[in-house]
Amino acid sequence: MSRDQALSKIDEYFKNGDFEAELARRIAFKTESNLAGCEAALQAYLDDELVPCLADLGFTCEIFPNPRADAGPFLVARRIEGDDLPTVMTYGHGDVVAGYDTQWDKQMSPWRITKDGKRWYGRGTADNKGQHTINIAAMKTVLQTRGKLGFNVTILIEMGEERGSPGLKDFCAANKELFKADVFIASDGPRIHPEKPTIFMGSRGVFNFTMRLESHDGGHHSGNWGGLLTNPGVVMAHALASMIDRNGKILVEGWRNTHIPNSVRAAIAKLEVGGGENAPEINPHWGEPDMTLAERVFASNTFEVRAFETGNPQSPANAIPPEAVVFGHLRYVVGTEVSQLMPLLRTHLDKHGFGDITITSERDPMYATRLDPDHPWAKWAIESLGQTAGEEISVLPNLGGSLPNDVFADLLGLPTIWVPHSYAGCSQHAPNEHILESISKSALQLMTGLWWDLGAGKTPKKPT
Ligand SMILES: [Zn+2]
Repeated sequence: MSRDQALSKIDEYFKNGDFEAELARRIAFKTESNLAGCEAALQAYLDDELVPCLADLGFTCEIFPNPRADAGPFLVARRIEGDDLPTVMTYGHGDVVAGYDTQWDKQMSPWRITKDGKRWYGRGTADNKGQHTINIAAMKTVLQTRGKLGFNVTILIEMGEERGSPGLKDFCAANKELFKADVFIASDGPRIHPEKPTIFMGSRGVFNFTMRLESHDGGHHSGNWGGLLTNPGVVMAHALASMIDRNGKILVEGWRNTHIPNSVRAAIAKLEVGGGENAPEINPHWGEPDMTLAERVFASNTFEVRAFETGNPQSPANAIPPEAVVFGHLRYVVGTEVSQLMPLLRTHLDKHGFGDITITSERDPMYATRLDPDHPWAKWAIESLGQTAGEEISVLPNLGGSLPNDVFADLLGLPTIWVPHSYAGCSQHAPNEHILESISKSALQLMTGLWWDLGAGKTPKKPT
């Protein structure tokens, strides 16, 4: 039995309508984890849908309650074929955001698949039911074609991702033994371009903080007091100007990332940024001056003012406002010491005469992760996917955006590889969520080839 036979078998699964039927069954579960009363649907998606499907494939399934009382359960499904075989951990989420049932075009129901041209609409088609359905179907095809997988697998499905994955980290920390693996391979999020097979291997982190300057109690008439009182808005504007120049270059000492490993630089050099539906126009002069555009979004730290308020913008008074507040954040890459960000800002503000500005940070930053494109597992995946696609795939060392990949990369210590099966225009989290037929077909092939190769005995050696 050959790789090609597995690839034509998965093509058949798509063409004969089985993929659509399987996905439609899953879309029908109203697993809206951010709405009250969703518990029964979250449990049913596992009990009535995934567990029977995976048990049929010889998986041992166990459902664990969430360590957090207010959040949905976890499914851990394992199929172990042998101690000497490679083990993959994979992941998906069965919950979705609210359906917004009345807001879809042409009165489509979010809980059914509606086909319109090349688009398949339905809540969860892209995020994430379609993606894990593709991955499990591809695994089933390898199993049926080869008679075995040729590798061990642990599947983790969570039911609270859309609520920020409550309990995920604690659950993984408490069950590290269950998740011992050689590699992590999962699917979520968008390709860099709909027609371009893509992998990403981590994400930038996000660090949110607040800067506040309280100059006096209450506003004061500017005619009576102007010229005598500090205006906190003006002082805050100068503080910001000391932190970032008018072209977006960060000026806080220690906040910039200027080192890019050669392998990361080489991977990023092949990526195009911007473009696509509804894309805004790029300012080529914004950000890190010595970096390429792609390096600025994938390999540099970027500072944004998310909101800035002084006085009352809805009803400006002729007064000196009492305070000014800035909500800022940094997207940052691996290599940035996140615990030093606030001390470095404090030092900067004090040095520039802004000792009166107080700074506070959010408790839990989203951590940055990245796998080196030269890592043996990265090279292995790039080659397998490229072989199936018949072209070079796009390799993102990390996403510009953020996701809680640190649970898998740092806590569990796994090389992490994400193969996304959606695209930026998929309307996930909004009405009219959809997948593209072309990506789904290609993704089924890519994943079948990848699982086939994982069991073919040519994977990177286990570290000794
Ligand atoms: Zn989502």
